Order: sequence, then structure tokens, then C-alpha cells
Amino acid sequence: MNILRIALDGPSGAGKSSLAKEIARRLNIVYLDTGALYRTVGLYAKQKGVNPSDAQAMAAILPTLSLDVRMEEDGQHVYLNGGDVGDSIRTPEMSKYASAVSALPVVRAFLLDTQRNFAAHHSVIMDGRDIGTVILPDADVKIFLTASAKARARRRHAELTVKGIETTLEQVLADMEQRDRNDATRDAAPCVAAEDAVLLDNSNLSVKGTVTVALAIIQAKVEEKSE
Ligand code: C5P
Repeated sequence: MNILRIALDGPSGAGKSSLAKEIARRLNIVYLDTGALYRTVGLYAKQKGVNPSDAQAMAAILPTLSLDVRMEEDGQHVYLNGGDVGDSIRTPEMSKYASAVSALPVVRAFLLDTQRNFAAHHSVIMDGRDIGTVILPDADVKIFLTASAKARARRRHAELTVKGIETTLEQVLADMEQRDRNDATRDAAPCVAAEDAVLLDNSNLSVKGTVTVALAIIQAKVEEKSE
């Protein structure tokens, strides 16, 4: 197999990015975090003072948004009209903006080529919500990573605390359940597992354990394909 394309989908807080980073490192392939693209579009909406749920207003500002993803020494950087967005897209506010803009078909269409082009040129593991269903329906391996809402909220709360962002576990859980509902019930590319995805529930697994199981799934699929 020349190019290996792995689609990793699932709800927020399931640990997709930690898993994808580690898989990319072990297999020496590129990791594309697609959530960062939606977060960057959300950031642009905020900068422009546009309601992120307003499809018409969003369609009007997208032509002036140039988005560039670069893989640098320390990983992925997203440039919005030439400026590195850095960690400014990682706040709870930007999670809400990202969730709102991602429900709009015009935004999903805007980001489609960036994501597909990436997979056309690199062996890649891409994490998101619709990688296995929409972006790379013919990916070599599809994993749908999930965990209970409580387990996911605990992890996200710990992450935010480390970053110095003050919030409560209850608030994180409430935001997460709201975002899960938005992501799973929206008309445009809802967050659901592809029919041919392997389901991996890591509520009771460590990061290391999750990596081990995911690597076994990948290996089995690759062997199956080369038979
Ligand atoms: O993964 P992350 O939490 O950074 O994603 C932010 C938001 O972007 C999610 O809540 C989801 O609504 C949206 N998203 C999406 N499709 C993707 C990646 C993210 O709709 N492929």
C-alpha cells in the first residue's frame, strides 16, 4: 500500500487527538486535526462580529478567509489570512463557535478540498466527525472512538485546568452534552460512525491501552487489504 489513510472520528473528548498524535508518530505518517479548521473558521466569525449560526452572513465572509495548514517541527499550525492562530482557537468559547459554524453546509463545503487534498498527498491519520463518512469514504482504516460523556468531560476538564482555563466539571459536562447533541443531530454531516468503521470505546482504557488497541485494528485492516 503506497499511501495509508486512516479516518478517526468520534465525539469531543474521546481522546482522538492524543491517539492520532501517537499513531502518527509510531507509523511515521502525518496527523491532520480537522477540528482546528472549524475552530479557525469560528475564530474568523468572531473577529468579523458575525453570528456563527447565520449561514448567509458566514457565506459572505468566507471568500475573504484564506486558511493554510502547515506541518512544522512541533506539529500542525493553522494560518488565518497569514497569521498563526496558535492556541487562541482552543478556548471553550471557540469550541462553541466551531460547533455552530460546523453545522453549516457552506462551511463544510469550504473546508472539504483542504482536507481531501491533504490525504491525496500524504499518508495521514485525520481526526474529526465525518472523515470516514464524507471526507475519506474510501479510507483504508476507519475507527470511531468514543467514551461515556462523564469520562470525556473529566478528561476535557483536566486539560482545561492544565491550560489555566477556569471552569467546573459540571459546566464542561453540560457544554459537552450540548455539543454532542448539536454534532449528532445536525443535518450536515452528523457525527455518526461509518458503516465500515470499527467502534472503539475507551471509557475504561488508558491512552496507552487505547493506542495498543487502535494499532491492532490498523494492522488487521492493512493485512486484510493486502491479502
Ligand atoms: O475536535 P474539536 O473539538 O476541535 O472540534 C470542534 C468542533 O468542530 C466540534 O464540536 C465539531 O462540531 C466540529 N467538527 C466537525 N467536523 C470535523 C471536526 C470538527 O464538525 N471533522
